Amino acid sequence: MLAFVAPEGLHEGDVAMRILIVEDNPDLVSLLVEGLQRNGFEADAVSTAAEATRAVAATRYAALVLDIGLPDQDGLAWLKDLRATGNALPVLVLTARDGVSDRVAGLRAGADDYLVKPFALDEVVARLRALLRRSGTLLGQRLALGNLALDTEDRLVTVGGTVRPFSSREIAVLEILLRRCGHVAPKRLFEDHLFGLSDEVGSNAIEVYIHRLRRLLSDSGATVQVHTVRGVGYMLAETRAAA
Ligand code: CA
Repeated sequence: MLAFVAPEGLHEGDVAMRILIVEDNPDLVSLLVEGLQRNGFEADAVSTAAEATRAVAATRYAALVLDIGLPDQDGLAWLKDLRATGNALPVLVLTARDGVSDRVAGLRAGADDYLVKPFALDEVVARLRALLRRSGTLLGQRLALGNLALDTEDRLVTVGGTVRPFSSREIAVLEILLRRCGHVAPKRLFEDHLFGLSDEVGSNAIEVYIHRLRRLLSDSGATVQVHTVRGVGYMLAETRAAA
């Protein structure tokens, strides 16, 4: 029985992977932010290279969408500096410039992929998903433990093969736990993935999501549970050996 249908069933404002958009055209920024959110991403946006440097230092992003023509610095020069610090964040470069030489320059500066404006939003989403898979951020589309499974692309949770109505925030928490399966997921990891620059992170916000997730897991008969590792974070484990 299908109880949850994506994407209409996604709760408003809920998140999955956090993307930073570095772009100074406000129309393009709103288009990208809305489009990425509709596709299950969370998006932050900044309009200058200086802000991008601060954002990347403050938040752990899954990937970055980078405009080349920024007001304070050339996007490719900024990217070259970022790579020089050892930062391997997947980067999709957006540019109005066409031509092979720009493409080569972009890739040399450390871009993982390249899109020429104007572009279709679907293409941005598809390229980002491909980058995330390649980078290992979304390694494995289907994550499973016990009778619980998460499809990271469709953002669907099944328990014993039945789709369950988890919100996207709860799915984001679950995804972090599943990816760290067998290890403790530190609290900081949840904060980085779940909250953007503009969000106020209440001191108990993570606890609230963990509490909801525990209730959902228990109500849906999942054979996994979330353990608290005091002062460190959380760990997902099976409640009994899998059949
Ligand atoms: Ca620009």
